[in-house]
Amino acid sequence: MRYGETGFNLEIDLSRGGIERVETDPEETALYLGGLGTNAKLLWDRVPPEVTAFSPENLLIFSAGLLCGTPAIGCNRTIVTTISPQTDLMAFSMMGGFWAPELKHAGYDKVILRGKSPELVYIWIHDDKVEIRDAAHLRGKGSVETTALIQQELNDPKARVAAIGLAGENRVYYASIEQDRSSASRGGIGAVMGDKGVKAIAVRGTGDINIARPAEYMQLCNEVLEYIEFRNANPIKGVMPILQGLGSPQEMLIHEEKWHTENFMWGNSRVRRNDFWNEDIEKSWTATLENYRTRLISCYNCPMKCGATIDIPGLPTFMMKCFTKLTYTMAAFSDLDFGMRIAQRATEYGVDGFTAPQVMAMALELLEKGILTKDDFPGMPEDSEGRFYWLLDRIVRREGIGDVLANGTYWAAKAIVKEADPFAHNCIKKHEQLPLKLSMLNPIYFLMYSTGEKLNITQIEGQFPQAPFPEREQREEFVKDWFQVPDDRFKQYFLDWNPRGENSMPFYPTVAMCCDIVDWQEKMHYIDDAFGMCAGLSSFPLKPPYHIHNYPKFITAGAGIEMDEDKLSQAAKRYRTLVRANNIRRGMRREDEKPPANHWKKRFPELEKELLDAYYRFKGWNEDGIPTVESLRELGLDYVADEFVSRGILADEKTAGSSTAADASSSAAQSVE
Ligand code: SF4
Repeated sequence: MRYGETGFNLEIDLSRGGIERVETDPEETALYLGGLGTNAKLLWDRVPPEVTAFSPENLLIFSAGLLCGTPAIGCNRTIVTTISPQTDLMAFSMMGGFWAPELKHAGYDKVILRGKSPELVYIWIHDDKVEIRDAAHLRGKGSVETTALIQQELNDPKARVAAIGLAGENRVYYASIEQDRSSASRGGIGAVMGDKGVKAIAVRGTGDINIARPAEYMQLCNEVLEYIEFRNANPIKGVMPILQGLGSPQEMLIHEEKWHTENFMWGNSRVRRNDFWNEDIEKSWTATLENYRTRLISCYNCPMKCGATIDIPGLPTFMMKCFTKLTYTMAAFSDLDFGMRIAQRATEYGVDGFTAPQVMAMALELLEKGILTKDDFPGMPEDSEGRFYWLLDRIVRREGIGDVLANGTYWAAKAIVKEADPFAHNCIKKHEQLPLKLSMLNPIYFLMYSTGEKLNITQIEGQFPQAPFPEREQREEFVKDWFQVPDDRFKQYFLDWNPRGENSMPFYPTVAMCCDIVDWQEKMHYIDDAFGMCAGLSSFPLKPPYHIHNYPKFITAGAGIEMDEDKLSQAAKRYRTLVRANNIRRGMRREDEKPPANHWKKRFPELEKELLDAYYRFKGWNEDGIPTVESLRELGLDYVADEFVSRGILADEKTAGSSTAADASSSAAQSVE
């Protein structure tokens, strides 16, 4: 009997039209925990570095997390994994909504797509019945429109549909996969779906999911629910509104945008507008949001309602959440009305709401500087809003200048001005980041930005406050009920952290403390991504309901895998290292691990070097960021060590030894009930 997971993957060969239901190995689950963990293993085993994003051999994996579909509150994430066309590294983007639980109920943990379909198709999974269907009539349709058409065609309004829009069909490097209440946007995974000729995957499931110890599990779920109620009634004091509560930043609920609009950058991520927010703007933006927002909505089995249905007169209804509310507005120096209107079109096209506005703002900056000329933009309107619509339309069709812009700021700047800097100045590992430029180096964020492989800073940060509280009394108040910390030393780190003077940034938290903090934050994100848990209830907010102390109990009672904090930390370290190993094998090195040069005004090269050196050592990586043979063996990743040696990535063959992957699996396997 398998618990938590179904024990079966769906393998679809699009080139031949083959469909297979494949039983999986429970020992792999014990080692890599499912979701992102087993995705990383699949990619390692089956996608060597010679395979590029648009090779037929590239896999596109849709994985439900290990506990998705169980009664665990907010456990609904689909982890989509592939090779990114933008970075040529492993991309793993998450989407919430309802798709993953539905897949579990249909009897599968993952859908693994390989090959390429000669014609545009969609996949219909209804329990045991799986079909590859013609999607010629859906070509060019928007992602939301496609969902409605498929549900109509299947005569099943409860079918959950993950679809691409025009951007995915045309392999725009930052194309997203949209799903009714969420989207997986980062890394260009929608482009890979389009390249494989798949317009959508629709799922409907009616089966059960087994729980190892149901009564115990329900008790744990009830405790989480009670704590959510407590946290909702007791927001954190002394932090900005979006950090006070749980869930994704409640952008659909919150009207006050002083912090974002005055601290995040406008245009091509360069212009700060210090005194932007005033009463008139607040009034007008509040009215816009209230008028367009029809209701707040949640993902599967969650009370948090982080999203909203947006109904703008004359436009189709769509779903919005998070910071996309502001990205188009700020890139175009416009207002919220424009931002929400263009987001509707962008959602239908299926583009990443972080990257697309930055690409368009960069194109306009190049025009302003005379590097591009009016001839490059034939027929483009004069006004900023009109220009954004015009550019978006061309990018998703890869028409004219849109063709080069469709590859993102890094590749577009390289093609136009022959080097990425200074115009694509907001990238890490060729990928656009939050449009945030600050004054003083934050050593914790320096490490997260540099070494993060999720390619999204908001999905790395979390449990430790972003900045010190001004007064010691406030800090003492904060740590009183901070039971989520792995141990009490983290409380002391925070208590001693001052905004100015002694113990302030950039030299406090100390290098050793930063290693501890970053490792904890990252670990929690990686655990979420294996379980399918929404970061908004775990790794992202302060004082969340899920943490390192109750997670092992969920695994034991839910999935039947005997777990404690040490074993869980070791498993998370194992597949986190495997994610890095995939990227190292594809050429990622220390020189790629640097935040944008202008991310902070005040930089400290010696300290930054010390931070990176120390964190690499802390993680068991050598000075180039490559996991060492010893650390790989300790994690049972002997097969990675052997391949690194055979490929010349790690030179010392003597210390690599000769044990096999099978030996490694059995030596590190944990007990499975
Ligand atoms: S916290 Fe918000 S984003 Fe997360 S599952 Fe709940 S509703 Fe969805």
